[in-house]
Amino acid sequence: NGKVCVITGGANGIGRCIAEEFLLAGANVAIIDIDAYSGKKLVARYGTERILFMHGDIAQKEVIEVFSGEVLRRFGRVDYLINNACLSKKGLLSGCGFEDFDYVLRLGVAAPYYLTKLLNGSFATGASVVNIASTRAFMSQSDTESYTAAKGGISALTHAMAVSLAGRVRVNAISPGWIETGAYQSDAALSPEHSEPDQLQHPVHRVGVPQDIAKTVLFLCSDDAAFITGENITVDGGMTKRMIYHNDEGWSYQP
Ligand code: NAD
Repeated sequence: NGKVCVITGGANGIGRCIAEEFLLAGANVAIIDIDAYSGKKLVARYGTERILFMHGDIAQKEVIEVFSGEVLRRFGRVDYLINNACLSKKGLLSGCGFEDFDYVLRLGVAAPYYLTKLLNGSFATGASVVNIASTRAFMSQSDTESYTAAKGGISALTHAMAVSLAGRVRVNAISPGWIETGAYQSDAALSPEHSEPDQLQHPVHRVGVPQDIAKTVLFLCSDDAAFITGENITVDGGMTKRMIYHNDEGWSYQP
């Protein structure tokens, strides 16, 4: 279909699955990732005609500037921007310091903002931005402050950008729950088996797979989602909808 899709962190995991779904749909894909090895494997599989891969860390301002320049030189416009790359440097209980906390916020919040800003003049008619947040934007395990703050940030950034880009670009977020990405890692061994409780605790009775997220991304980028903007869609098998209390339904709290 010749559309141009930009994906951060597209060399592995959910980002790679999103990239492959767009390639299957006929789009050209531009990826930036810190994993050069996996990026090269992807280019070898699909060819330089269809994929622009840049090796780089999007927590660095200059890297985002070079990447957006390369994308526009090569393709001239952008139809879809998928802000996907993120990682965790934990939090209070393991002593995450200022630099590490700052790094995760640059990667998870400032980079999606800045990339959108640099591409803003080049979005095609009907363009769509999809930000990958997390159910951790809304609830927490302990020791997750850096990641959780980044996910809260990108979640709010989504509705802000949707309003700023109103009438030109739709901006939405997806909040994945537990997604097993083993099959989408370079040199992946077989994905781990998940125990019965791990699966059954999800109201849909299984752990998620990258396709669950990728299909939602493609939906949000399609005309079928033309009336959806500024929204977050949680894709977690219902995990965050299950209310649990000690001694309820066989659950017990062990402090
Ligand atoms: P992953 O680690 O499998 O893949 C992330 C990719 O991003 C990797 O290829 C990595 O090299 C790249 N990356 C990391 N830091 C980067 C940087 N600074 N610059 C450029 N590239 C960088 O992770 P994943 O599980 O596929 O996660 C993808 C997105 O989905 C993330 O935003 C993550 O927070 C979110 N998410 C994942 C889950 C899950 O259960 N897997 C749940 C909720 C949200």
